[in-house]
Amino acid sequence: MNPQETASARARRVREGHDPSVPALVHAGWATELPWLMQGTTTRGAPGNEFDLGLFSGGSPSDLVHERWTRLLAATGMRAAVHARQVHEAGVRLHGGASAGLSIVSPCDGHVTSEAGLLLAVATADCVPIFVVDPEERAVAVLHAGWRGTAAGVLERGLAVMSGDSDARGLRVHLGPAICGDCYEVGPEVFEALGEPVPSRATVLDLRDVLARRALEAGVDPSNVTVSEHCTRCTGSGLFSHRCGDRGRQVGYLGIRA
Ligand SMILES: [Zn+2]
Repeated sequence: MNPQETASARARRVREGHDPSVPALVHAGWATELPWLMQGTTTRGAPGNEFDLGLFSGGSPSDLVHERWTRLLAATGMRAAVHARQVHEAGVRLHGGASAGLSIVSPCDGHVTSEAGLLLAVATADCVPIFVVDPEERAVAVLHAGWRGTAAGVLERGLAVMSGDSDARGLRVHLGPAICGDCYEVGPEVFEALGEPVPSRATVLDLRDVLARRALEAGVDPSNVTVSEHCTRCTGSGLFSHRCGDRGRQVGYLGIRA
């Protein structure tokens, strides 16, 4: 086993459980251990009445999507939510004092807050929703990472904003439901952009594995990194998948309960 495999294998696999009230997949370990957190990844919900939260993907009429965001806020008991059009870069924004309801802020791929009652959200459909928690400081971040964002360093940027002057060791990192390492075939240029060994032809890539390794390299303690077992494509988890032709989007959400 090479050192890279050793590092990423140290991250714990978790299978989030369904919370039908949202509907969402919730990290049960965090829910028990960090009860002040509000965390989850929405699912597509009931057939014929999909819980598409994509505001920029053209899957559902805008008024229906806004209605679903209102339902998400009500179900989570949060006062406000922030979301942005995502641009596959490494921009991370700090939030505080958001007005009630859903606020759309200028384009970025990560959100950070220490304000209770404020839900941070990224939209995905194969990309990785990354959840970061600082249990000591009671701060949270949610990041959106496809291969471009990963290559741009969105994880490292988010961890740096969260850890500030101290190190990243005590941060908790969860890599949520996303396309898995069996389902995500990409060209050699993607491996190259990520600084991974470059294959000669299109090959499957486990992006969460790359991210888990990067989290460890950034100093996060291996026991604090978890990786979802859910795949947007193959595990029948009821998630939207861009590669399967879905225009709908789930959201990864994270906040501090009021
Ligand atoms: Zn899969």
